[in-house]
Amino acid sequence: MTTTPNIQRDVVIIGAGPSGMTAAHELTKAGLSVAVVEARDRVGGRTWNNTIDGAWLELGGQWVSPDQTALIGLLDELGLGTYSRYRDGDSVYVAPDGTRTRYTGEMFPVDADTEAEMNKLIETMDALAAAMDPQEPWNHPQARELDIISFHHWLRSQSGNEEACNNIGLFIAGGMLTKPAHAFSALQAVFMAASAGSFTHLVDDNFILDKRVIGGMQGVSLAIAEKLGGDVFLNSPARTVRWEKNDGGWLATVIADGVTVTAKRVVMAVPPNLYSRVSFEPPLPRRQHQMHQHQSLGLVIKVHAVYDTPFWRADGLSGTGFSASSLVQEVYDNTNYGDTRGTLVGFISDEKADYAFSLSAEQRQKEITASLAEFLGDTALEPVVYYESDWGSEEWTRGAYAASYDLGGLHRYGPDQLIPVGPIHWSCSDLAAEGYQHVDGAVRMGQFTAKKLIAELAA
Ligand SMILES: Cc1cc2nc3c(=O)[nH]c(=O)nc-3n(C[C@H](O)[C@H](O)[C@H](O)COP(=O)(O)OP(=O)(O)OC[C@H]3O[C@@H](n4cnc5c(N)ncnc54)[C@H](O)[C@@H]3O)c2cc1C
Repeated sequence: MTTTPNIQRDVVIIGAGPSGMTAAHELTKAGLSVAVVEARDRVGGRTWNNTIDGAWLELGGQWVSPDQTALIGLLDELGLGTYSRYRDGDSVYVAPDGTRTRYTGEMFPVDADTEAEMNKLIETMDALAAAMDPQEPWNHPQARELDIISFHHWLRSQSGNEEACNNIGLFIAGGMLTKPAHAFSALQAVFMAASAGSFTHLVDDNFILDKRVIGGMQGVSLAIAEKLGGDVFLNSPARTVRWEKNDGGWLATVIADGVTVTAKRVVMAVPPNLYSRVSFEPPLPRRQHQMHQHQSLGLVIKVHAVYDTPFWRADGLSGTGFSASSLVQEVYDNTNYGDTRGTLVGFISDEKADYAFSLSAEQRQKEITASLAEFLGDTALEPVVYYESDWGSEEWTRGAYAASYDLGGLHRYGPDQLIPVGPIHWSCSDLAAEGYQHVDGAVRMGQFTAKKLIAELAA
C-alpha cells in the first residue's frame, strides 16, 4: 500500500503557470520554503511549446511588448533571449464587402469618413484610459456609467459609422477579451487599454506583438521549475484547501492528488473560473462565491499553419492581416527563430469560434485556410502542418486568453478581487492591473503576492 506524502512548507502554491512559478521563485529567493502543486503533467499553464507533426509551435501565450517590463526583467534574469516578429512589407485589410487592400502603417485603408470616425474613437478611448489607474479601474470618474453599458452599445453611442465601430471593437473584443462586444462593459474595455498603457498601444500591432522568446514563452516556467527541482508536484490537482487559525497565525492544508502540503499561506495561482474546482473548508465568504461567478474566460481558436517557405514575404507581404468581418480576424507571420519554414498564426474569436466549432474538423480547416488565403493568396490553402489550439477543451483552463467580468461586474466586485481569505491569496494574470490578461500581468501578480507574503511571514 502506498501512502500519500505529507510535507510542510512556508507557502503552498496551487498552479504552475507563470504567476505561480514567479511567486515560488521570489519566495525561495527570500529564503522561504515552497511547494507548487500542478494539475497538469507539465508547468507553464496557458504558455505551452509543443511539437505537432514535426512543427514546433507555441500553443498559448507568446508575444512580449515593450511596456511589459516585469516580464522583460524576468526573461533577463533567467537568461532567456527574445527576437522580433517579422513585419517587413505590406499588411492586408479585408473590408466588410470582401474587398482586399494592401496597406502600410497602422490605419486600415478605409474611406475618409470611417477613418475620421476610427481616429475619433481611438482618441476617446485614449482619453478615458489616461484617466484610469489600472490598479483601481473602479475608481475611474465614469466607472459606473461605463460599466453598465456594453462596449458594443457604447461604441454606437459615440459613432454612427458601423465599420468604424466594428474595427475599433475588434481590438478589444475579438482581439483581447475574445468575447462579443455586447458581452462586456465599456469600463472593461477601457481597463484593457489602460492596462496596456493606452488604446493606441492595442491598435499598434508593432507594439503589442513586438517580440517572442527564443525557445518559447513556456521557457519562463520551465527555467523556474528547474531551480525548484523536487518542490514542483505535477499531476497533482488541488482538491481541498482546509485552513484554521493557529497561534495567532494560520495553518493551511492543501490536499492534492499525490501530495498533501501543510503551510502558513496558500497562493491560488489559477484563473478565477477554476476556483470552484477546489473545496474550501471553511467555505469562501459570500462575496467571493458571488464575485467568482461573474468572471469568465473568452473563447478563441489560435490556428497554426506551417508552409515549406514563408511564401507571402516574396510577394512583399508582412503576413499581417486584419478583418472584423472575416472568419479569421487577425493573421501574422509567426515563423520561428532560425526556421526556414514559414508559419502563419490566425485567430478566430467568440461567436465566430462557436461557428467554427460547429463544423466538422475537415470543413473547419477548409474554411479557415480559405480565410487565410483571402489575406495572403491561394498558397495558404495547403499548409504542410495545420493545428488549432483549442484551450476551451482544456480541463484546467477552459477558454482563452483570460478572464473578464460580465456587464457591471468590474466596478461591483473588482475592489474585492485581491482580498485574501484567511491564509489564501489570489494570483493570476486575470487579476492583474498592468499586463492584465498577459504573461507580464501573471509575473507582476506573482511578484506582488510574494512580496506581501514575505513581509507577512517576516512579521
Ligand atoms: C492561445 C493563447 C494565446 C495567448 N497569447 C498571449 C500572448 O501572446 N502574450 C501574452 O502575454 N499572453 C498571452 N496569453 C495569455 C497568457 O498565456 C496568460 O495570461 C498567462 O499564461 C496566465 O498565467 P497564470 O499563471 O496567471 O495562469 P495559467 O497560465 O493558466 O496557470 C495556471 C495553472 O494552474 C493550474 N491549475 C488549475 N487548477 C488547478 C488545481 N486545482 N490544482 C493545481 N493546479 C491547477 C493549471 O493547470 C495551470 O498550469 C495567451 C493565452 C492563450 C491561451
